[in-house]
Amino acid sequence: MKIERIDLHLVELPLVTPFETSVVREIRHPSILVNLHAGGLSGWGECPCEYGPWFTHETLETVWYILKDYLIPAVLGKEFREIPDFLAFYHSVRGHPIARAGLENALWDLVAQRSGLSLARLLGGVRSRIPVGVSVGIEPTLPAQLARIEAYLADGYRRVKLKIKPGWDLQVIQAVRQRWPDLLLQVDANSAYTLEDIPVLRQLDQYNLLLIEQPFGPEDMLDHARLQRQVRTPICLDESITSYDHARWALELGACRVINIKVPRVGGLTAARKIHDLCLAQGIPVWGGGMLETNIGRALNLAAAAQAGYTLPGDISASARYFSEDIATPDFVLHEDSTITVPDGVGLGVKVNQKRVKKVCSRTETFTI
Ligand code: MG
Repeated sequence: MKIERIDLHLVELPLVTPFETSVVREIRHPSILVNLHAGGLSGWGECPCEYGPWFTHETLETVWYILKDYLIPAVLGKEFREIPDFLAFYHSVRGHPIARAGLENALWDLVAQRSGLSLARLLGGVRSRIPVGVSVGIEPTLPAQLARIEAYLADGYRRVKLKIKPGWDLQVIQAVRQRWPDLLLQVDANSAYTLEDIPVLRQLDQYNLLLIEQPFGPEDMLDHARLQRQVRTPICLDESITSYDHARWALELGACRVINIKVPRVGGLTAARKIHDLCLAQGIPVWGGGMLETNIGRALNLAAAAQAGYTLPGDISASARYFSEDIATPDFVLHEDSTITVPDGVGLGVKVNQKRVKKVCSRTETFTI
């Protein structure tokens, strides 16, 4: 196979409602779409990024720059047979997992199409519907937060993830628990806490949470291990796991008992599968996190979550959760049992709407042999 052409599109989609974490408040979300062309086929990948280095060090500008100046020149026009051969072309590029993931995942779509299989089948997926929950951003007031949760429960979501930060934690969780004693509930701090907050975090044990996600900084694996020894609730790592090795170290250290696999954050499907396989072998539950992807990334996340080890509900909400109009169809909808169907069409199983891409695209560039 030879990659004959690659198109990059920066799309910026307005969010249905502003989304706030402990770090940033967003009203629209950027994504860089990677479109690979080879042998008459066209594969799509997505780099869900941010305007600033809030979730990881990568921003939309660094993703674009690394793709344009390093990754695309390394693969364009090269002959290769399998995905590992393709990855070897840019093996020397360090870091920048989101940029690498967009390119690699487009190839997975292309390879699935070449095989005549859905991506989920190609990955050996074992389920056709994925149990999902919703990630609820921080609201200005407690009544507003409860009202927002109520609305998502009315939509059919059966698992809720609350974003927390110091000063917006115990009181909020207690109020949610009081109102919905049996709700599947978990929290995500996006690194807002430090070791000094351990007494507060220990109090979370009383609320029967599924997990506490990423309380400390991305590099604080030892501190997470220290915390996990002092709380019963499983710690789940997100930002700390940017490669297979990080997952291996975290498990060896006892820094977590659950891993949130975000395919772009770990550099693509190859690394994501390795992490999944490692966790499955060790009995560590994993779940699929979302990064406000369009339907391209959403389809990929659903295919990945069809694998056997994804035993906790994912943050892969319905298309309408974040965007009123997506750039690919069909939209993903939430079923009454809080699941979303894994696409079974060939490749990603979604069709990119080029007209819509053009409408929300603020930058595009084509690279040819
Ligand atoms: Mg998270």
